[in-house]
Amino acid sequence: MPLPNADIIAAIATAQGRGGVGIVRVSGRNIEELASGILGKLPEARKATLENFVDENGDILDQGVALFFAAPHSYTGEDVLELQGHGGPAVLQLVLRRCLGLGARLAQPGEFTRRAFLNNKLDLAQAESVADLIEANTAEAARSAMRSLRGEFSTAVRGMVDELISLRMLVEAMLDFPEDEVDALDAERRNSMLNNIRSQLENTLDKARQGSLLREGAHVVIAGQPNVGKSSLLNRLAGEEIALVSDIPGTTRDVIRQTIQIRGVPFHIMDTAGLRESEDAVERMGIARTHQTLHRADLVLLLLDASKGLTAQDEEIIAGLPTGIPRVLVFNKTDLCGTGNTPYVNAPLANTSYVGVSARTGAGIEELRGKLLEEAGWHDLESGAFMARERHVLALKQAQSHLFQAHSVLNRAELFAEELRLAQHSLNEITGEFTSDDLLGEIFSRFCIGK
Ligand code: GDP
Repeated sequence: MPLPNADIIAAIATAQGRGGVGIVRVSGRNIEELASGILGKLPEARKATLENFVDENGDILDQGVALFFAAPHSYTGEDVLELQGHGGPAVLQLVLRRCLGLGARLAQPGEFTRRAFLNNKLDLAQAESVADLIEANTAEAARSAMRSLRGEFSTAVRGMVDELISLRMLVEAMLDFPEDEVDALDAERRNSMLNNIRSQLENTLDKARQGSLLREGAHVVIAGQPNVGKSSLLNRLAGEEIALVSDIPGTTRDVIRQTIQIRGVPFHIMDTAGLRESEDAVERMGIARTHQTLHRADLVLLLLDASKGLTAQDEEIIAGLPTGIPRVLVFNKTDLCGTGNTPYVNAPLANTSYVGVSARTGAGIEELRGKLLEEAGWHDLESGAFMARERHVLALKQAQSHLFQAHSVLNRAELFAEELRLAQHSLNEITGEFTSDDLLGEIFSRFCIGK
């Protein structure tokens, strides 16, 4: 009986449930003994062979394809063995248990990818995009995660870091000379290098923001008087009947959440209880929740009745909306206005964007979808978004603000050098050059087991 070897990890890599094929994956520094135990031998590297997977008595647990990848040419950079057997939960458990019996331990979530990161197979941004690719719910999100996994995002970040290093070297050299001897040409060169990095950063930040939007989505609240058609509009946007529609004011008592996609961007839409004074306790609770939800939203859609225009009650609701959150006024029920009759257009709505729709006929819904995308900050990119996370966007913004500072101290070499150093540090955090163990733990614990 071999001693447990903490260095070998094993997990079922395929999804839970039944499937045609199920894979148990093993990774470690030396897995020859384990392979011999279950297969009778260490298979030839990178050659798929049909093998019996056997238990300690030599009884066959399953039969399948064994694939061996010798270190360092594997996903993790270690020896990796993939046992591709039948995709049933019981048989996979038997094979996994056999691997554990042979000295492996159960892998933690994301541990394979963590090892890949620690063995320099992937940088941190790429490792994160592995999880993002698996989690992607839309084709657009999957494509942008793949772009990041291939390293496009990391390459862009590394490119900026390289240029920052060149600029820092130029400035460090300058620090050795008294100010008055600094060549005017040097100052010019510094400035243009800095500007170049700043514009690359701008571009990368834009793509990362778009990717972050694809990943996280936007939170939208629909507010408005009872019976104005909030539930109907939500149904229309979602394309299915999820909210309760009725003619009795106040039937939407709770916050109902629904995620819809517009061109691959998820919008988490919350339908809210009518914002009005109420005697009903349950309804009052709904109203209180509505106010809480409002403050966390990225965008508020305020629904009004187009046939009535902006009423005093609507103005009251508008006055109660939190400031600082973009809002769009949606005049619903345009079908009741008759052709060409749009009384709502004359409403005094300075600086507020509005759109007329009919939840009943579908008129104006496309325009509303476009507005939602626009307000969420989505715009089509020629070369596509990078699947970025909030952490990446923050790091890029931090680097951006250091470079902005650097620009304002262009002729004060020491301060200038310091800002460049800080900007570089922020960028390095994205790819994981300087990353604390805490952050690594946090990132990898969100992976699924077996990845
Ligand atoms: P909520 O209380 O704001 O959620 O409003 P509902 O969605 O329950 O709608 C209230 C009433 O208005 C229902 O009878 C709907 O059928 C009707 N309604 C909703 N949208 C429209 C619309 O665009 N046109 C017309 N004519 N009626 C609508």
